[in-house]
Amino acid sequence: MAHTGQSFDAIVIGAGFSGMYMLKSLRDRLGLAVRVYEAGGTVGGTWYWNRYPGARCDSDSYIYCFTFDKQLLQDWEWSERYPEQPEILRYLEHVAKRHDLKRDMQFDTRVTGGEFDEKTNRWTVRTDRGDEATAQHLIAAVGSLSDTNMPPFKGLDRFKGKWYHTSRFPQSGVDFTGKRVGVVGTGATAVQAIPEIAQQAKQLVVFQRTANYCVPARNGKVDPELVRARKADYDGVVKRIRESFFGQEHYFIPKSVLATTPEEREREFDRMWDAGGFAFWLANYQDMFFDKKANDLCADYIQRKIRSTVKDKVVAEKLIPKGHAYGTKRQPLDTNYYETFNKDNVLLVDAATDGRIDEITEKGIRAGGKEYPLDIIVFATGFDAMTGPLKALNLKGRGGRTLDEQWVNGPRSYLGVAVAGFPNFFTITGPQSPSVLSNMPVSIEQHVEWITDCIESMRRTGKSTIEPTSQAQDAWVAHVNEVVNATLIPTANSWYMSANIAGKPRAFLPYLGPEGVGGYRRKCDEVAAKGYEGFVLA
Ligand SMILES: Cc1cc2nc3c(=O)[nH]c(=O)nc-3n(C[C@H](O)[C@H](O)[C@H](O)COP(=O)(O)OP(=O)(O)OC[C@H]3O[C@@H](n4cnc5c(N)ncnc54)[C@H](O)[C@@H]3O)c2cc1C
Repeated sequence: MAHTGQSFDAIVIGAGFSGMYMLKSLRDRLGLAVRVYEAGGTVGGTWYWNRYPGARCDSDSYIYCFTFDKQLLQDWEWSERYPEQPEILRYLEHVAKRHDLKRDMQFDTRVTGGEFDEKTNRWTVRTDRGDEATAQHLIAAVGSLSDTNMPPFKGLDRFKGKWYHTSRFPQSGVDFTGKRVGVVGTGATAVQAIPEIAQQAKQLVVFQRTANYCVPARNGKVDPELVRARKADYDGVVKRIRESFFGQEHYFIPKSVLATTPEEREREFDRMWDAGGFAFWLANYQDMFFDKKANDLCADYIQRKIRSTVKDKVVAEKLIPKGHAYGTKRQPLDTNYYETFNKDNVLLVDAATDGRIDEITEKGIRAGGKEYPLDIIVFATGFDAMTGPLKALNLKGRGGRTLDEQWVNGPRSYLGVAVAGFPNFFTITGPQSPSVLSNMPVSIEQHVEWITDCIESMRRTGKSTIEPTSQAQDAWVAHVNEVVNATLIPTANSWYMSANIAGKPRAFLPYLGPEGVGGYRRKCDEVAAKGYEGFVLA
């Protein structure tokens, strides 16, 4: 039943990690009346929607969790280094129950619009179920990777088989046994899904637009001694990840790779490779992200690994990235990904050498003029990252301005947490915050706690609105771009650079602070300590 005329202190949109903790924090710490609207059928966000085979986190489980609940850090046992989607969802359901979150959440409800009323200083929000509610504070916990990117492939409507997007997989799963399956895309999701699907399918055809550098995940049970040691030192772990560069216990080697001998760097590369996970990406030589010559040495190591793993020389060459530097795209973690291309039932169709996808036909996919017959197509084509879910809210700020209008040339925010002209509106892990370039629970908790402190301070000092000045916002945008422009990241056509979607204005979406998430946290705290410098409080 639709509710109208309801009024809250705060409305939170989304019930993933972000929305769950935001509710907990505002309700249980400040005593506010909060309503959470969630489009999905329960909590979980990413882990509710992404049910494709092989879906799991790439962050180590001991840090891919909430840290605000110290007892839960001790009690919860993760089964593996990188738990699968059902386990993470179970964890989030457990958190929701433990903190009685669902009583303030409304599921299967999508926020479709909202506007700020300059007379009452309140937001009105509308949903697809006909609800209309107002609140002083509006918090977007809509996720960075929640808006599915489905490229408009010609002919999809006439395909006679079944098709799915990885981020909208059916809850009942998909049986690939004995089927001819096509996977479109080779990003981090596809790299997880392809080896799993290849085990079931009669034939798997992988359509690759851009090859990626994959590094081994090395998933498995974690040594119980290590689990015990981490639990005994969780305060230390939390402190370190909060102060770290990427919200993880990874640290660059404080040395130029160009200053090493071939033997020394091979030893280091082997060590990182054997450690698995993000070590090769985030704990490599410090100039890897900045200097093409340094980067080439790291890339060369992976290229040699690909050539030694993939038996067919032609396929190996297709799998070797061309045209972008290592580490400038989201790092996929590989569990038998390259080995999968040694299987007889797996075929790689590479856009550069075999031809791009021309169209979907009744029977399958036509690429480079050749038709590949398929029973099922799986689109692993990612997301309209970061700005997509925010723009889809159709919010109107001061003077009826929309985010679409404000962001024609890419996102503009202050600290990635607020937008000029949108008073009392906060974005958790919004564009131009560390977000997707960090272990996200660390960044989520930081934003939630900062926003809670800010609202608490407003209530204590009797302020009814807060919004960034456009000068502070301009300076932040300039800073975000200046920092990233010193790296190799802008040279790649990645989703970080908004380049995965035709027509999306090219802009770097997250923030790569010179001192990482630790430095960013200090910056946010400093802004608050200076009476919310760069914001207008009225
Ligand atoms: C496959 C995959 C693997 C990942 N692995 C990692 C990892 O290893 N490490 C890591 O740090 N991060 C990872 N991420 C990023 C992941 O999104 C975050 O870690 C985290 O789950 C984000 O939580 P969130 O609550 O901010 O957003 P989400 O989990 O995306 O939740 C946002 C919620 O908002 C809802 N919503 C959006 N718009 C509306 C609307 N208009 N109305 C109502 N509800 C709305 C959505 O339905 C969604 O449930 C991964 C992402 C994906 C897709």
